[in-house]
Amino acid sequence: MTEELQNHEEAWNKCLKIFRDNLTPQSFKTWFEPITPIKLENKVLTIQVPSQFFYEWIEEHYVDILQKSLRKVVGPGAKLEYNVIVENSNAGKIPYTVNLPTSKQNKNTANEVNMPLEVITEIKNPFIIPGIKRLNINSQLQSRYNFDNFIEGECNRLARSAGFSIAQQPGETAFNPFMIFGGTGLGKTHLVQAIGNQIKINHKNKVVLYIQTGKFTNQYVEACKNNTHNDFINFYQQIDVLIVDDVHELSKKEKTQEIFFQIFNHLHQNGKQIILTSDRPPKDIKDVDERLLSRFKWGLSADVETPDFETRIKILENKIYSEGITLSKEVVEYIAHNLDNNVRELEGALISLLAQSSLNRKEIDLDLAKQVMKNLVKNAAREISIDFIQKVVCDYYNIEVDTVKSKTRKREIVQARQIAMYFAKDFTKASLKNIGSHFGGRDHSTVIHACQTVNDLIDTDKKFRYDVDELQKRIKINTI
Ligand code: ADP
Ligand code: MG
Repeated sequence: MTEELQNHEEAWNKCLKIFRDNLTPQSFKTWFEPITPIKLENKVLTIQVPSQFFYEWIEEHYVDILQKSLRKVVGPGAKLEYNVIVENSNAGKIPYTVNLPTSKQNKNTANEVNMPLEVITEIKNPFIIPGIKRLNINSQLQSRYNFDNFIEGECNRLARSAGFSIAQQPGETAFNPFMIFGGTGLGKTHLVQAIGNQIKINHKNKVVLYIQTGKFTNQYVEACKNNTHNDFINFYQQIDVLIVDDVHELSKKEKTQEIFFQIFNHLHQNGKQIILTSDRPPKDIKDVDERLLSRFKWGLSADVETPDFETRIKILENKIYSEGITLSKEVVEYIAHNLDNNVRELEGALISLLAQSSLNRKEIDLDLAKQVMKNLVKNAAREISIDFIQKVVCDYYNIEVDTVKSKTRKREIVQARQIAMYFAKDFTKASLKNIGSHFGGRDHSTVIHACQTVNDLIDTDKKFRYDVDELQKRIKINTI
């Protein structure tokens, strides 16, 4: 009966912690901060949401994580109920509330084999499951990603069409492995998941598995600890279509690379399909064994690029349509015009707009759009730190962050150090002294000198100017 004694606020705070660890800061802030816990009775947690729209959005997008967290915090059988503030059309009256149950019931089927969702469920070892049937392996795919809602443009044409062919004949095309690479938020995960989902429709007997490299690595580390190394390999070797997301994260993980190499070879030799994504082309992936890298290049590598204006409009229109809302052309064009880095940020802007409009009960017009976008840009500016800038610059030049803080006077290091100082001055509010101290205790005159040198080189050196532009983009993309 301990859970009965648990206070609703306490329970909700525990849930919030899980959300914070598993959602982007923006989603968390937009959708979870405005929620108030009301009561916890008989394992039913009632939460108050500011509008019907909020309720629907949460039901549509976050109900799984809500339910899982609730079960973890309150215990099995925990239920969720919403208390929705309803706008009263009679002006002057206080809004009233209605209680609504969650529309989705607990979908856990007894037969499905779940891979561990590290943070939420605590299945110690997913591999030894007596009588496990191959077809019961949970693919870990999200059904919302499909080809229909993946908008085609110049930016992704090759990747999309190759992906589509693979979905018809997995393992039987020349595109094996199939590697999709490109910057963050450009649709790699969406596309590989769409391929996985389509294969499940076209080939019901094929076992598809989607896994993120980080999760794969953690599972392997766990397996080594628990002496279940062989179970780990056996599990992966039964898969017909293995989708591994963000393989650049294998960098410096020698042991995981080795095991992945072994699994890769087994699957490939047996005509199984392998699909990979990376944030850069295989030739630029650092600190991954050459034998593995050369295999990444065996099949087809296709990139996804930043969508052009027309494609951004199409993506927004599609999203708006599927959410069942309407927005004026003016607003759509304003968003598409002002956010040109990646698709994730486009979606983020749209979601913030919806949330703002719902919270303040305002129409979405150009003014609101301008206001929301200003906040987005402001948030971004606030979040950039000197550490972050150092990381982006050092990644770009492929050097260790420690070296820019060291005394080294090697030319390329000095240059990276000066560029990082220049951006620190440009993007943060830190004082020159403070910036200097982040670079191994240098004084303010060194920082001034660095900024001058960078400015001079931008004016005179084309390659240098290109590098600075590129770095600036990377610093900005990652902070929205
Ligand atoms: P990545 O894995 O490359 O970082 P994601 O696949 O997570 O990017 O995409 C970020 C968001 O943008 C997702 O919500 C995805 O659905 C959306 N998205 C990206 N590209 C497209 C596209 N071409 N059409 C529709 N939505 C897209
Ligand atoms: Mg991704």
